[in-house]
Amino acid sequence: ANQARIESLKDNINRPTRSIEYPKKIDGKPYYTSEIFGENVFHLQQIAKVLPKPAYASFLKQMRGRQALDKATADAIAHAVRIWAMDRGATHFTHWFQPQTGSTAEKHDAFLSLKSSFSANGEEVTAIDAFSGSQLLQAEPDASSFPSGGMRTTFEARGYTVWDTTSPMFIQQGPHGTSVLYIPSVFISYNGDALDEKTVLLRSTNQIAKAACELLNLIDPVPVGAQPRTSHVFTTLGTEQEYFLVDRSLYSLRPDLKHTGRTLVGNLPPKHQQMEDHYFGRIPSKVMATMSEAELELFRLGVPVKTRHNEVAPQQFELAPIFEEASLAVDHNLLTMDVLSKVAHKNKLKVLFHEKPFKGVNGSGKHCNWSMSTDRGENLLDPTVKPETNYRFLLVLVSVLHAVQCHGGLLRTSIASSSNEHRLGACEAPPMIVSVFLGEHLTEVLNSIEESRPIKNFSVPEIQSIKLGGTVLDVKVATLPDISRDLTDRNRTSPFAFTGNKFEFRAVGSKQSPAFPVTILNAAVASALQDVTQALREQMGGRPYPSDADKIAVIKKFIASTKSVRFEGDGYSDAWIQEAERRGLPNIKTSPEAFEQLLNPVHADMLTRQGIFTASELQSRHLILQERYAKDLLVEANTLRTLLASQILPAAFEYRGSLAQTVQLLNGIEGEGNSPELAALKALTPVVKELQATIANLDKVVHEMHHIVDDPVQEAKYADAKIAPALNAARAIADKLEVLTADKYYPIPHYSELLWF
Ligand code: ADP
Ligand code: MG
Repeated sequence: ANQARIESLKDNINRPTRSIEYPKKIDGKPYYTSEIFGENVFHLQQIAKVLPKPAYASFLKQMRGRQALDKATADAIAHAVRIWAMDRGATHFTHWFQPQTGSTAEKHDAFLSLKSSFSANGEEVTAIDAFSGSQLLQAEPDASSFPSGGMRTTFEARGYTVWDTTSPMFIQQGPHGTSVLYIPSVFISYNGDALDEKTVLLRSTNQIAKAACELLNLIDPVPVGAQPRTSHVFTTLGTEQEYFLVDRSLYSLRPDLKHTGRTLVGNLPPKHQQMEDHYFGRIPSKVMATMSEAELELFRLGVPVKTRHNEVAPQQFELAPIFEEASLAVDHNLLTMDVLSKVAHKNKLKVLFHEKPFKGVNGSGKHCNWSMSTDRGENLLDPTVKPETNYRFLLVLVSVLHAVQCHGGLLRTSIASSSNEHRLGACEAPPMIVSVFLGEHLTEVLNSIEESRPIKNFSVPEIQSIKLGGTVLDVKVATLPDISRDLTDRNRTSPFAFTGNKFEFRAVGSKQSPAFPVTILNAAVASALQDVTQALREQMGGRPYPSDADKIAVIKKFIASTKSVRFEGDGYSDAWIQEAERRGLPNIKTSPEAFEQLLNPVHADMLTRQGIFTASELQSRHLILQERYAKDLLVEANTLRTLLASQILPAAFEYRGSLAQTVQLLNGIEGEGNSPELAALKALTPVVKELQATIANLDKVVHEMHHIVDDPVQEAKYADAKIAPALNAARAIADKLEVLTADKYYPIPHYSELLWF
């Protein structure tokens, strides 16, 4: 290996695992997790404590109904949160928001303020700490450096961050024991247009809540004059986050990983994931150190991280939280990614959230587990023991099917990116065609209703004792009832699967914020719920409430109309691609094509009709996505070009030089005219030439792309048509060269070094 790689590997081997002290009480006993949980969060109860009762009531009203907050209340909360935060070492505050960059943004301001007073002796300036209600409510970062997709030319350049009162404030530790107060915020333009991911997400959760309440209250009649039974429906979200961890020193020797998040060259070693020995395997100690340090911080931040385990690919891991209300879950997922990165860094590791950092092994997803729940805590997708007669469940279920049927193409858009494109449809990742997997039992339920026949008998849960070595243990074990066994079928090939009492949107990329896919899913389901409610009203004729027969008729109707989107088979097979085409399901292969769906009237009308996006917000988002795609590929092309030209090609030259020298030395020696070195040289030379040509080709396509000016759609199309193939072609040759070049000369870490600690 070359010197840099040797140093780096040595460093990794010799480095002790970092160990942080778990917090202890005065008596020396460790804190329980529940005692630490949320200690860095400014909870609603704390607001309740500082506000007079009427002010607190009006704050709650503002939170739920989004009415304006008055100045006195805002000032009182600001004062209380400042004292709370400063007592915990906070020196600064920041509005924390989610521009359309895929990550979060923050700009810190100190609480420090200066107060001047004038007296006979002149001006006297004193330092004070201050934080006003208006500073809490709103800030004005310079919007002009965030992606706006042309909104700036249409509207004012100004952007405002506004406190999102539905997500609690929290503090995050900085260096030297200081910390920063984070204020979760939305980011909007002067005219109120969404410049971020959060605003549209909040609009979509409001819409779905309204639509679901309307359906529920229609089928759940109350006496005349009484309050409707359901007054709010929450969207719930649990985001299983997959990621890779690599040694930071090796990472730093890979410009491709550093600049693009993925390896642009590299061969898999003979053993990778085929032994299936990594999944759920023992967690390596430096990974455990990172995971538990990150979890400790996340517990304090009130993020309910629950599950950790090894994933399928070498050095791939997963972390899953307990589900929460969707917009909070999104904030918490973004925080989780931040904290993991930060803690990995301290542990001399690098976390890779890219969907496909390594070619040939599994990529990473972010499974978005999604459901709806009433304000009484009932999960609307809980099939209960007898789903066939649970009409509420069935109406909600067919609404989701109807949503995917109508807007599958748009769901595809919501997960499209240059990075996710490498994952989808390869190595255990869902395909590009959005279909729904329901499992055997629910399929039978829907089929029996559609065919108006009795349902096949699915046995009910039984309790039995297990016998071990002849002795009956005193434990009662429920044999898995058929219902839960069937409902939790693992069909990894489905992009959108029913898993027991929720849907799992699996096509979502590991790197992206879950906000956009969840917004689109909410929007589509809200619209579908409206359609189903409408159909039910029509079915009822003039009657005030639907009968069971009305419900069954509507359920039947939607079972029939959504059949083509249901698929239980192998989503990876070619047969499915042909079948999907026969069914008329969209198979949108490229991201630029997927982004166009945002302007497709079928989808755009649905989004604008519900007020989740305005037409100009859609146009701007469309341009932002196209532009980002083009830029991603351009960065990859430039990174690869430089890597090949300045590192890999010179390494091959050096090795070739040494071979040539040996050949020359051997030339005069009897019987060495045809030396093995000469054979190696002959094998190497044409590949080196090919590599040189491929670099020239990369130059050419990058250069041509620069001819397209100010047209993100054309740039993205060009990137897809020309840059992506050029990257692949260059990689193929570079990978051949990696094998032919003596290890000693090879400048960057191999997969075999990166992927095994
Ligand atoms: P599975 O084994 O099917 O993946 P888990 O119980 O491990 O199921 O849950 C996976 C994720 O789904 C977790 O983040 C969990 O909190 C979340 N989840 C469970 N129920 C719901 C629900 N009703 N709504 C949203 N997410 C849920
Ligand atoms: Mg799962």
